[in-house]
Amino acid sequence: MDMPAPSTDVLNRKSRVIDRLKGALSAEHVKSDPVETRAYECDALTAYACQPLCVLLPGSTSEVAEAMRICSEERVPVVPRGSGTSLAGGALPTSDCGVLGVSRMSRVLEVDYENRCIRVEAGRTNLSVTDAVEAEGFFYAPDPSSQLACAIAGNIAMNAGGAHCLKYGVTTNNLLGLTMVTMDGSVVEIGGSHLDAGGYDWLGLVCGSEGQLGVVTEATLRILPRPEGARPMLIGFASPEVAGACVSDIIRAGVLPVAIEYMDSKFIEVV
Ligand SMILES: Cc1cc2nc3c(=O)[nH]c(=O)nc-3n(C[C@H](O)[C@H](O)[C@H](O)COP(=O)(O)OP(=O)(O)OC[C@H]3O[C@@H](n4cnc5c(N)ncnc54)[C@H](O)[C@@H]3O)c2cc1C
Repeated sequence: MDMPAPSTDVLNRKSRVIDRLKGALSAEHVKSDPVETRAYECDALTAYACQPLCVLLPGSTSEVAEAMRICSEERVPVVPRGSGTSLAGGALPTSDCGVLGVSRMSRVLEVDYENRCIRVEAGRTNLSVTDAVEAEGFFYAPDPSSQLACAIAGNIAMNAGGAHCLKYGVTTNNLLGLTMVTMDGSVVEIGGSHLDAGGYDWLGLVCGSEGQLGVVTEATLRILPRPEGARPMLIGFASPEVAGACVSDIIRAGVLPVAIEYMDSKFIEVV
């Protein structure tokens, strides 16, 4: 994989850039020591790695905006990062870039059970969204297998999905609104707290855009009541073809399982 060549101009201005960013975010949330930035040199695609110029760990939308404004003025590329579980190198830095991680931004901002939605900061992990509402009998449906670690920010950028998506759709079907900071530090609000907000479908554009349009800092997500009477069922099949035919039969019969997952015999042995 060919990565863009780093800008020597930016590399030469490293200390000035970092001083400006420390002034905006506080020194402890701007990492430039290679010992500390090493953890950000790659995502789960570990075949490719590169130490970034610095790592920025803002704690609010306004801090993200300030960091983006400075990076824009200094012509420093920014790679947004959630939890770094992407398997596609989406959060892979270049040596002249700032990795902007949203992991410090993980609060629940509002839960609205009547309208079935939750507003969270984008660094919140996927599973902890469900944790926040399950006592009231609700859950957040998109469930990538990495849900213990991956962040809503990364889920939005990759339009993530999981076993529940057959019935409930992927992230784009469960995302109602978001706050995003664009490259120049502007803060934009997109969507709302209900499905299909008016105007252009900017939400559909941002969801799945792999961090190329800005840094998502907050999101309003659809939460659903836990399905009543759902029971796990494990079925063994003689071959993948028979298993596939069974899935087709279930769906043809008008039954849409809450979740469905398949493992072949080799993987069962490995696990
Ligand atoms: C064991 C394992 C199992 C997995 N299972 C699944 C699965 O079942 N389904 C599935 O869909 N994926 C799966 N994945 C892939 C990965 O977990 C998902 O793509 C997840 O959504 C990435 O989230 P993250 O927070 O780790 O994002 P990161 O890896 O940090 O970033 C992913 C992308 O999002 C961008 N991004 C991050 N934060 C922001 C932000 N604040 N604003 C804008 N862009 C941002 C990054 O620049 C990058 O392009 C799996 C990965 C692993 C390691």
